Amino acid sequence: MGIGVTKVQEIKNGSIIIGCRDEIEREKLRAAAKEELKEKYKVEVPRVGLPKIKIVGVDTDEAEMNDNEILKALCNQNNLETGGEGHEQKVIYKYINKMNGKMNIILQVNNKNFEEIILTGRLNLGYRRYKVEEYVSIVQCFNCWGYGHMASRCKKNGNCRKCGEEHKEKECKETEPICINCTNRMNKYNITDTNIKHVANDRKCPCYLKIINKEKGKIRYEDI
Ligand SMILES: [Zn+2]
Ligand SMILES: [Zn+2]
Ligand SMILES: [Zn+2]
Repeated sequence: MGIGVTKVQEIKNGSIIIGCRDEIEREKLRAAAKEELKEKYKVEVPRVGLPKIKIVGVDTDEAEMNDNEILKALCNQNNLETGGEGHEQKVIYKYINKMNGKMNIILQVNNKNFEEIILTGRLNLGYRRYKVEEYVSIVQCFNCWGYGHMASRCKKNGNCRKCGEEHKEKECKETEPICINCTNRMNKYNITDTNIKHVANDRKCPCYLKIINKEKGKIRYEDI
């Protein structure tokens, strides 16, 4: 086939990553693999980049620090690599969780730091130690509550977050929530043992958790 394979690496969940010299070869290989393997395997191009983490529930004291101060404090207090060229570690964004008034921080870190952070699952910042998790961004539509597109591109009429029917949430008369995504999944795959009694954007929704896990499996981090 005339393709220079630069690396073959087996990863978790039964996947194999094949490295090519450039994008043209990658496309050739992808097309050939797809043709050859047909339905037996899924062939996809992984997304690469630096890993992202989320620091959860940070005290508002720390919210006073600017992005550089946060990064500096994290590296100092946790013995992390400060990076350098090609290791663009940075705060991507911070937001306040309206439920508890605490701040969540999304950061991009280098691979070495990422491995250490995920292993311990905690980071010291200021006077406290915070929970940290891998961050994957998932797009959910605020119109129909489906995943993978935004409301501005939604082609549906709009569904209630609480019960999934086509009416405004304000007009909802259901007393118990019913998740539209879990209901659709249940009907589509004939699943009977799934929990559907939650609102469509519940972070414990089985559909959401499935998508998050799938995304995590897809992202590969570049070796720099
Ligand atoms: Zn939609
Ligand atoms: Zn409703
Ligand atoms: Zn659900």
